[in-house]
Amino acid sequence: MGTEGKVIRCRAAVAWEAGQALVVEEVEVAPPKAHEVRVKIAASGVCHTDWAYLHGAGRGMELRPFPLVLGHEGAGVVESVGAGVTKFSPGDKVIPLFLPQCGECECCLSAKTNLCKANWSKTQQGVLADGTSRITCRGQQVFQFLGVSSFSEYTVALETNLTKIHPDAPLERVCLLGCGVATGYGAAVNVAKVEPGSVCVVFGLGAVGLAAVMGCVSAGAARVIGVDVNPDKFAKAREFGVTECVNPRDHSCPVQEVLAQMTGGGADYSLECVGDVEVMRSALESCRSAWGVCVIVGWTELEEMRLRPFHLLMGRTLKGTYFGGWKSVRDVPRLVDQHLSGRLKLEEFVTHTLTLDQVNHAFQLLAGGQSIRSIITM
Ligand code: NAD
Ligand code: ZN
Ligand code: ZN
Repeated sequence: MGTEGKVIRCRAAVAWEAGQALVVEEVEVAPPKAHEVRVKIAASGVCHTDWAYLHGAGRGMELRPFPLVLGHEGAGVVESVGAGVTKFSPGDKVIPLFLPQCGECECCLSAKTNLCKANWSKTQQGVLADGTSRITCRGQQVFQFLGVSSFSEYTVALETNLTKIHPDAPLERVCLLGCGVATGYGAAVNVAKVEPGSVCVVFGLGAVGLAAVMGCVSAGAARVIGVDVNPDKFAKAREFGVTECVNPRDHSCPVQEVLAQMTGGGADYSLECVGDVEVMRSALESCRSAWGVCVIVGWTELEEMRLRPFHLLMGRTLKGTYFGGWKSVRDVPRLVDQHLSGRLKLEEFVTHTLTLDQVNHAFQLLAGGQSIRSIITM
């Protein structure tokens, strides 16, 4: 016991280079500096974005500095706090947040956005507020993915990138609220603002897409059409409330034409949860003229999306979202409470529970379309 103030030696999955398998290594995690918190990670989901930064680096994604500890969908318990931290104490259950909520910046003071900019460029570059990371391995600094790095037994987060949750929260489930489930659900309820009786189309039926389906259903959608090129995803999607399933590969015409036919002109809301610029275009063209709303949730940073302005001129709205529009520190504990009271599914997203040593297997399952969410338990 008594790790406070000391370097902790523990295990983490290190990405030494882009495109290479992760290597589970012994790392050193330094004590938290002022306004930082050291967290013992209990569990972490494996999100498509982790995979994409490793394998899409320099193509769809900006190249991040390596070596890097990935993982941004974690939950854990506070081990110790740095100077000046008042909102957290050792033993608190917490979720680290890749999107902070400092409460003070221009964006935090506005009800119009959740995009807090506190230390943004630093955490995007894998370091904390002072320009360094708290993780080292073999004498080398290891960068922290989005200021989180949950593929590690311990990590250090800025106090603005952390939220305290209900003490009864099951950490190996609520970790999903650190990214995928919160993002998809919020994309439907906060960003698309799906209305009762509406017709929705969700492209991509992975965890983010299924969470978007859950949001459409909870908002009272009359029909939710699920689109995926992998028909193995359809059974679970139906369990989540998808009313019809479409595989674009079963049709010779573009999927937006199939959807227009099915809906009598297009959906009220379409949500892209794939991260492919061609699918983004299909999603825009799948929502109806006059009032259709298309929300881009899938991630790409460097690729360009083509669109015909005519589709916007005819009254469609194109939007995007980061983390489903949630004000992270305020809203993630509320989502945890919704789960605890049985109003928000989490269990249903988990297809595999694996150890840290199996993290590369989790990536293979994700890339091969065999998992929805794998949870790494530490
Ligand atoms: P996933 O890999 O589990 O799911 C993607 C799904 O899309 C799969 O079921 C796949 O079969 C399907 N798909 C692939 N090509 C398709 C096509 N052409 N048409 C229809 N379906 C197709 O991924 P996930 O973890 O659910 O993440 C989905 C996307 O959301 C990723 O791009 C991820 O980076 C992004 N994301 C964005 C945010 C955000 O804040 N905006 C947060 C988390 C994840
Ligand atoms: Zn994610
Ligand atoms: Zn802020």
